[in-house]
Amino acid sequence: NDSGMTDPNDDAAMSELVDRARELIPGGAQTGLRAQAYETGDVAFDSASEATLTTVSGERYTDYHLGFGPIVLGHAHDGVDKAARAAIDDGVLYGAGTTTLEVEVAERLVNLVPSIEMVNFCNSGSEATYHAIRLARAATGNEKVLKFEGCYHGWHDYVDVSVYPPADRVGERYPESDGMLSAAVENTLVAPFNDPDALEDVFREHGDELAAVILEPIPHSVGCLLPEPEFLERLREVTESHDVPLVFDEVISGFRHSPRGVQYEFGVTPDLTCVAKALGNGYPVAAVGGRADLLAQAGGDNESGVVISGTYSGSLPGLAAARETIDTIVEEDVQGYLTNLGDRYRDGLTDLLEDHAIDGRVVGHRSIFSVQFGVDGEPRTYEDVLGLDEERFRAFAAGMRERGQFFTPNPYKRHHLSFAHDESHLESYLDAADAVLDEL
Ligand code: PLP
Repeated sequence: NDSGMTDPNDDAAMSELVDRARELIPGGAQTGLRAQAYETGDVAFDSASEATLTTVSGERYTDYHLGFGPIVLGHAHDGVDKAARAAIDDGVLYGAGTTTLEVEVAERLVNLVPSIEMVNFCNSGSEATYHAIRLARAATGNEKVLKFEGCYHGWHDYVDVSVYPPADRVGERYPESDGMLSAAVENTLVAPFNDPDALEDVFREHGDELAAVILEPIPHSVGCLLPEPEFLERLREVTESHDVPLVFDEVISGFRHSPRGVQYEFGVTPDLTCVAKALGNGYPVAAVGGRADLLAQAGGDNESGVVISGTYSGSLPGLAAARETIDTIVEEDVQGYLTNLGDRYRDGLTDLLEDHAIDGRVVGHRSIFSVQFGVDGEPRTYEDVLGLDEERFRAFAAGMRERGQFFTPNPYKRHHLSFAHDESHLESYLDAADAVLDEL
């Protein structure tokens, strides 16, 4: 329209489609988190290209959601899609023996990621963390897994505990879903992130019962908690001395922050690593990799009987996308480009908060950032994020959406950048934010 503003509720085609979706699909979207996008109006996109999303009725948005993060090179990336199409032409799934593509992607992971000596492919981050824990349980003969508050590792019962515990449930094992197996929840221990003393307390009490410690080295489901170097070092020491496999969930950080994983950046090598999301620029491909002796348990012989299974594991369009995505990230120094651009968004937003005298902070790392209202200081633990002003963030997201900037209105999530974002997007984002913050 003439003002350049959009009204997400004033769109007949989109409303009609969303109404039909609500009748047919629980919550009107494939997952509860996708349904949260409705908080700022109807959402129905039907195409995406580079940094732009287009709705079913032709409205265009600059995308900072990027499918929850996988789209690191931009939507409909020519090279990646061409590689996937070539794989489609050769048949998408054989389900026997090996393939050239799986060997070539495995070689790249082993060469790039410090902890990865062998690798198994699957289709999602949740599968990867599930497999990692099964491998660790088999190797140790133990059942308990330690995770950290605010870390998300997928939807399965082993890990969907204390991601977002309410303030009065912090410190407990808080199941995130109804219907979870109580034995799984009981075997999931929870500790605060970035707290070496609490970590050592857990090891003092349960060190001999632990099968694994799993963490996001940067918890990104609460925006961004950066790890204290001392925390990661103590974590590595204490897991090593108790012979407990350390699992880095690099589902978000791997290939988005660095093709070597943030384990390379932080100089701490885990025993197992999970990657997904940016590995395939949006295609369903994921992997668990790590120490050869742990992975070899899944070798398929009866002596070492860890079952890692999945009809679609190693599906070829995903692997073709992964090979091309990895090569592009490495050859084009995508990490350097995105780090620089991310710094400029963070600096710009920080200046705007100051100009408008708005209480809040900007958090993030490289291509990820988020603005959190009503809180200050650098967040280090889940509890540091708890006080943020959710309503204000939703109002910000709604105002930004009216001005053509799309991201999820969930105040704990994050903005992502891709290789397709540039100066022009930065400028429009900051102009829009200037106007919206003026109204908040
Ligand atoms: N681990 C992390 C850090 C994630 O952010 C996610 C998803 O957001 C997962 C695991 C689960 O991945 P998926 O949604 O592909 O199952």
